[in-house]
Amino acid sequence: MEEKITEISNENTGGLNFVEQEIVNDLAAGKNGGRLNTRFPPEPNGYLHIGHAKAIIMDFGAAEKFGGTCNLRFDDTNPQKEDTEYVDSIMRDIKWLGYDWENRLYYASDYFPKLYDFAIRLIKEGKAYVDEQTSEQIAQQKGTPTEPGTNSPYRDRPIEENLDLFERMNKGEFEEGSMVLRAKIDMANSNMHFRDPIIYRIIKTPHWRTGDTWKVYPMYDFAHGQSDFFEGVTHSICTLEFVPHRPLYEYFVNELADDSYCPRQIEFNRLNLTYTVMSKRKLLQLVKEGLVNGWDDPRMPTLCGLRRRGYTPEAIKDFVNRIGYTKYEALNHIELLEHSVREDLNKRATRVSAVVNPVKLILTNYPEGKTEMVEIENNPENPSEGKHEMPFTRELWIEREDFMENPPKKFFRLSPDKEVRLKGAYIIKCTGVKKNDKGEIEEIYAEYDPETRSGLPGSDRKVKGTLHWVSVPTAVDIEVRDYDRLFSVENPGAEEGDFRDLLNPDSLVVREGVKLEPWGAHNLKPGDHFQFTRLGYYTVDPDSTKEKPVFNKTIGLKDTWAKEMKKS
Ligand code: ATP
Ligand code: MG
Repeated sequence: MEEKITEISNENTGGLNFVEQEIVNDLAAGKNGGRLNTRFPPEPNGYLHIGHAKAIIMDFGAAEKFGGTCNLRFDDTNPQKEDTEYVDSIMRDIKWLGYDWENRLYYASDYFPKLYDFAIRLIKEGKAYVDEQTSEQIAQQKGTPTEPGTNSPYRDRPIEENLDLFERMNKGEFEEGSMVLRAKIDMANSNMHFRDPIIYRIIKTPHWRTGDTWKVYPMYDFAHGQSDFFEGVTHSICTLEFVPHRPLYEYFVNELADDSYCPRQIEFNRLNLTYTVMSKRKLLQLVKEGLVNGWDDPRMPTLCGLRRRGYTPEAIKDFVNRIGYTKYEALNHIELLEHSVREDLNKRATRVSAVVNPVKLILTNYPEGKTEMVEIENNPENPSEGKHEMPFTRELWIEREDFMENPPKKFFRLSPDKEVRLKGAYIIKCTGVKKNDKGEIEEIYAEYDPETRSGLPGSDRKVKGTLHWVSVPTAVDIEVRDYDRLFSVENPGAEEGDFRDLLNPDSLVVREGVKLEPWGAHNLKPGDHFQFTRLGYYTVDPDSTKEKPVFNKTIGLKDTWAKEMKKS
């Protein structure tokens, strides 16, 4: 162990973030006998989002990097909000990110007996009391950071009375909200968290693990630090809002044991993303009110939503690495995440041809019934993935936007009497169009030049534009779901008023009748990644069937982040 640590501190310190640096220092100093044990402590009251991924990558990642272990601990201290659905989804998402808690799965509810005993001990030592005031009264007495609080009239009630009341609270003799147990610490402390914090409350909803064993439940602040302590956690890494809670956690752990061991809390900045919200309460509201199609709606910042959208764990890790871990809160740009997604999908997505807004192109001088096969590289980034063939025929689908009857000057796509290359095939020249009664173009006519077949001798004649296409007789109809930002403002969490009014009404556009080449459609599995030539990255949706393939647009090809970087 010792040797390994020295090796790390000598060789790898350069690339470490500040949390990792602290861990390495502690290990090198031989703290905790050279042991490293982190934990990820989600409350099972919602699905994980990309912010949680930042915490998971820190907790599990650091353990992995420095030969330690990471626990998964569900902070299940509030039965009113928690559900096994959330527990299952959290486990699935952590595994998807590529991490494993092995046999280290814990629940704060495992510690309810110990925490209860500890509360009893505090009462017996005169360090806790039952307060019968309303939560409003308690809040009013808290004071402000510059003014001391006021003592509760119940603060000095006799120990025996406190014991009796607390035990009866737990038997269910009192109503929810009628009384709480408070730690008797210091109503004038400059740290507000020390002003006699509430440590137990009455909840009568049965707990999903412990049933109706308990009628009192520990507050998060009374469970969290002690849970770390019970598990032997050495580094309790969390987000910055817990900085002022840290002394309270240490106070409770000190009351529990001698000072030979105390989990060390280190705080880093949260991940915040533009054009979305991270609050679990708000995400739950979007789901409950049907403003999105469930937790895994591809517009959601949830891990299951991003997965369904086509984002990969590797892309998310790359993004988290780029934004880094600091001591300062920041708003992270979604364009940077999208940049990571593009870089990753570029390496793994199979190239196929699809036409999302089709119009028919007829090559009038190409023989009817003839089919030629054109070769497409599956991934130019990775030649070992080989090629596939795509049929070329007299009738083809091309994008409606790739034709203009009266084009502006720099339009290098198709227009009357102009030439373009059909990707991988021939140069064609537009000879005319057919319109319907409403004046809309129904068919485009062109002639192909047989001397210009791509890849053959003499085919190197240059034209400015190259269009993608799909052969009409073999095209497969698919559904494509196009997504835009979930919110229409950059930082919806910071705006006044109802956040739901800021939702982007055009965040989902469903396109039917998109044409896909037959090769791509033959064996689709949910989660398969494709690049539709010239259009973007698309991922097969779980709703997809053989009869009706469904794709989510993961992201377009244009990298706005790279453009911004060049400008600056
Ligand atoms: P709640 O308001 O319900 O507490 P939460 O997002 O903090 O919501 P938890 O289940 O308590 O949810 O989060 C588990 C861990 O994930 C915590 O340690 C928390 O610090 C971390 N975490 C939550 N949100 C973010 C975020 N946006 N960026 C980084 N870490 C986060
Ligand atoms: Mg939390």
